[in-house]
Amino acid sequence: MSTSETILNVKNIKLHFPIRKGILRRIRNYVYAVDGISFSVKSGETLGIVGESGCGKTTLGRTIIGLYRPTAGTVEFNGTDFSSGRKDSLKKIRKDLQMIFQDPYESLNARHSVRYILEEPFHIHGETDREKIKERISLLLDHVGLSEKSLDKFPHEFSGGQRQRIGIARALTLNPKLLVCDEPVSALDVSIQSQILNLLMDLQRDLALTYVFISHDLTVVRHISDRVIVMYLGRVVESADADEIYRNPVHPYTKSLISSIPVPVPGKQRERIVLEGNVPSPVSPPRGCHFHPRCPYVKDICRTEYPSCRSYGDNGNHIAACHFGDSLKI
Ligand code: SF4
Repeated sequence: MSTSETILNVKNIKLHFPIRKGILRRIRNYVYAVDGISFSVKSGETLGIVGESGCGKTTLGRTIIGLYRPTAGTVEFNGTDFSSGRKDSLKKIRKDLQMIFQDPYESLNARHSVRYILEEPFHIHGETDREKIKERISLLLDHVGLSEKSLDKFPHEFSGGQRQRIGIARALTLNPKLLVCDEPVSALDVSIQSQILNLLMDLQRDLALTYVFISHDLTVVRHISDRVIVMYLGRVVESADADEIYRNPVHPYTKSLISSIPVPVPGKQRERIVLEGNVPSPVSPPRGCHFHPRCPYVKDICRTEYPSCRSYGDNGNHIAACHFGDSLKI
């Protein structure tokens, strides 16, 4: 359930990674991983970020929790701008912002028991009260549906879904306010995916959490998100409330992603919009609209001018960057 208080404010952030070459390691070019993105997230809300592999969504997620320092722009959490990388501002937000990773096996140290994995964040943050840690871990296991017997086992002794439950418990150890969930179910079997999604929704309700939920899978994002932003080559091409973006997509890229979702009605099918080619390299994005080499509606202006974001619908929440959004809107 959303409230009106803004908890995260991202303003025009850019992440350009330098490509160095030669003996002198001179900068020859940049990877434009994130290229001018702004959005805000309200307390208790889930913002879905969707796009193909290589669109910059994981880089964006890592910047939101302070793992990367942006080349430009600011990230404010509860009014504190920590994007400058200053130690005092990072320390202030560190406990409140946590991440759930895609592959629970990779993100859990195989040599450590679950007890060690869950106790470690407390030790890092200077908590020494053993009784308090024990109580907190017991509560966390209960929250994520694991038994106390799990504590002396190692990650390889669990199924993929159980490992992700451990990853979620670890992310919750320090009582965070906002979780960045980076493809948290894409490594899991379909039958397990819905269990983990339902667990995340229950935890959000019970612990008043805010989520930024990153996925390439629109069906998953729709299930959990209040609002959705669609990324393409480091930029936002469309954003709207979740239902609105699925019912009335404007940008041809969003339309193509939605056209690939199966309709849950026997015998009924959507008209597929199949895109030509792959996502271009973020080292040299195409001139004009970055999507133009793959767009079925491309016109001359698209090859030279990047379209500005325009507002659609009644509440001004629906935004898309396309020169011909009005005529393409269903
Ligand atoms: Fe397609 Fe042109 Fe719109 Fe870009 S601006 S999405 S190329 S129609």
